[in-house]
Amino acid sequence: MFARIVFNFSLDHSFFYSIPAHLENQVAVGKRVVAPLNGTLKIGLIVSTQDVLEKSYEIKPIESILDENPLCRENDIKLYSWLASYYKYPFPRVIWHSLPNKIAKRLTKKVKLTEKTRDDNLLKKQHRIILNAFSSKKILSEKTIEKKTKIDKLFPYLQELESMGFIETIFQAPFIESSLDGNPLLDHTYPFSNIPRLNSHQERAYAELQRGIDTHSFSPFLLHGVTGSGKTEVYLRSIEYLLKHNSKARAIMLVPEIALTPQLIEIVTGRFGPQVAVFHSKMTEDEKCERWVKILLGTMRVMIGVRSLVLLPIPEVQLIVVDEEHETTYKQDSLLLYNARDTALMKGKIFGCTVILGSATPSIESYFNAHLGKYVLLHLPERVTQALPPKAEIIDMKDEDKAFGETPIISEKLEDEIRKNLDTGEKTILFLNRRGFSSLILCNKCGSIKTCKFCSVSLSYHQGINTLLCHYCGYTEEFTDKCYHCGKHAVTKIGLGTERIHHELEQKFPDAKLFRMDSDTTKKKGTTERFHELFKKGEIDILIGTQMIAKGLDFPEVTLVGIIYADLTLTIPDFRACERTFQLITQVAGRAGRGEQKGRVIIQTFNPSQYSIIKAQTHDYVAFYEQELTYRKELDYPPYSRLANIRISGVNERYTKTAAYQAAHALSTIRDTNPHFAEKIILLGPAMCPIYKINDKYRWSILIKGKNAQSLDLYLDKYLENQKDKPPQVSLKIDIDPLNFL
Ligand code: ADP
Ligand code: ZN
Repeated sequence: MFARIVFNFSLDHSFFYSIPAHLENQVAVGKRVVAPLNGTLKIGLIVSTQDVLEKSYEIKPIESILDENPLCRENDIKLYSWLASYYKYPFPRVIWHSLPNKIAKRLTKKVKLTEKTRDDNLLKKQHRIILNAFSSKKILSEKTIEKKTKIDKLFPYLQELESMGFIETIFQAPFIESSLDGNPLLDHTYPFSNIPRLNSHQERAYAELQRGIDTHSFSPFLLHGVTGSGKTEVYLRSIEYLLKHNSKARAIMLVPEIALTPQLIEIVTGRFGPQVAVFHSKMTEDEKCERWVKILLGTMRVMIGVRSLVLLPIPEVQLIVVDEEHETTYKQDSLLLYNARDTALMKGKIFGCTVILGSATPSIESYFNAHLGKYVLLHLPERVTQALPPKAEIIDMKDEDKAFGETPIISEKLEDEIRKNLDTGEKTILFLNRRGFSSLILCNKCGSIKTCKFCSVSLSYHQGINTLLCHYCGYTEEFTDKCYHCGKHAVTKIGLGTERIHHELEQKFPDAKLFRMDSDTTKKKGTTERFHELFKKGEIDILIGTQMIAKGLDFPEVTLVGIIYADLTLTIPDFRACERTFQLITQVAGRAGRGEQKGRVIIQTFNPSQYSIIKAQTHDYVAFYEQELTYRKELDYPPYSRLANIRISGVNERYTKTAAYQAAHALSTIRDTNPHFAEKIILLGPAMCPIYKINDKYRWSILIKGKNAQSLDLYLDKYLENQKDKPPQVSLKIDIDPLNFL
């Protein structure tokens, strides 16, 4: 019998080993083994087994099998293998990326005392000192022995002792079951009392989902529910239904970011109590591993977590919920460039389970797929509390009075509305998707713009720390009003950030209680918790924040939402700019009027006739979708094509450029010499990335449009097969279904 093994380090291939007869009945896919590799013993994982081997080359036997029960199963391996081939990432790396890395830590070499009785006549003085070092313990590391005995050259004595049979060398693997002790089961448990009765729309959606769950096979749904329509309740009912009707089944719920959804976690843990396992992105590997082992042991059945949870091998998954499926945080932007939503769908296919994608603003691709009939489309067209969505008004900032030639930050109308809210005690949210005080530092005399030393972006001014900061690499520099270029004291701060809004509000409403939430303020641990506490107590009048506050917040006291500069997302060089703008406005606007009081939304913009802004004003997703779709079709963008972005980067500008041109040449040769690809593949580039330099690395990209996923996949495989050596220090990464083009 033979097994294919993957090892946990930078090896991109798997290896075959033979299984000694005495281990054959223990062998199973997903168990760890100890096997010799390059002269030492390593931990590996069995990914498949077979009785015969086609080629006959020298095959070594494995040493031992570490696990009693497999850590993952055939289905998980199938998913990993799909990930590897779809996202063009080495299969062994996919596996070790997905498993908690604790289980793959290195073997530790230990010395173990045998039962053999001592015969002091045979032993040298050093031997006796060594054996005495063991005292009550039976197993010690060489280091400990060295420390205890203070013998310089320990090794020869240990060898002698081993040959005499007094000690033996053993290898210890990280033992996962041991991590079960200590630590409470859950972070918190919350009492949950009033479970609402479903309204008719929720009932209808829930009934469809029950049908899906009952099929015990792949049933994908897209739940399109306006903000405040009670999507969460529908998820919870479906999970409840599954747990009730299938005593073994487990459910996974993916959320874009745990820290931003404390209310959701509270509700889920409240509903399912100690059966819930929460996976944060900031969890340590040990914590993650511990929680995972509990799931394997069967005590936890509802898993809620960020994108990497979809990769974790969990048996008996029968339901996967992807909340806010349109969120870009589902896409990982380093190493394995996977999208957790798409992976969830593939997992659903492989595991044969129900998958619910939920959003108030579904991605164009998902809505398109639903229309093609790939997913069942479910609608929640109304809010649970009020039939009407918040009333939104667009303010054309071009018309605002320009005192000293400068457009005001807060329009007259918004200022009035804020004042009204302060008078009545209702709460306000102001949204601007940029942190800091100002985004540009410009010299009035010579026109120079202060940029980052390491990136081709302008530095932002952060007033609280009086510092210039690069939002890409984190480079900081003390602010001075002296121009770095001409030396004149003529530097001005241009552009807005949340810090500036905060400052402006302090001036305008000195008595208002303000709170700012962006990645600057939430860096400090506990900020989000403090915010929730203060807000619940009514101690915040106005919340100012970036996209962080756009989702998940469910506070009935908020009646006014002000969007300071709706155009910000429109300016990014990305074919999804309009989609992002529509989504952000709709999501933020959705925070208003979730209680009994009616919500008002003020959208400040310089492009009042832009369709993404107008459709967001009227809360008309379908109209936006249709208009966006015509534009996508014209330009052959997804969902009418599939994209891959090849990113080439390196510290040496010339090498990087050369590598980009070489890659582009190789790609076009493959396309031009193969009639199949000639029709189905379009190459754009090489081009400098919109941000040409980040962290001192120069960046190029080649965008590939494929008529469909299959042609694109074949084409890239062909390219990878023939890939020539690239210049030194240049990295080349393939990003499939890219979401970020900067
Ligand atoms: P969404 O995620 O669609 O924006 P939520 O799931 O956050 O909306 O629901 C909004 C609020 O309505 C929550 O406070 C939730 O508890 C409540 N809710 C959900 N369903 C009902 C219902 N059928 N009746 C009354 N309240 C409900
Ligand atoms: Zn930088």
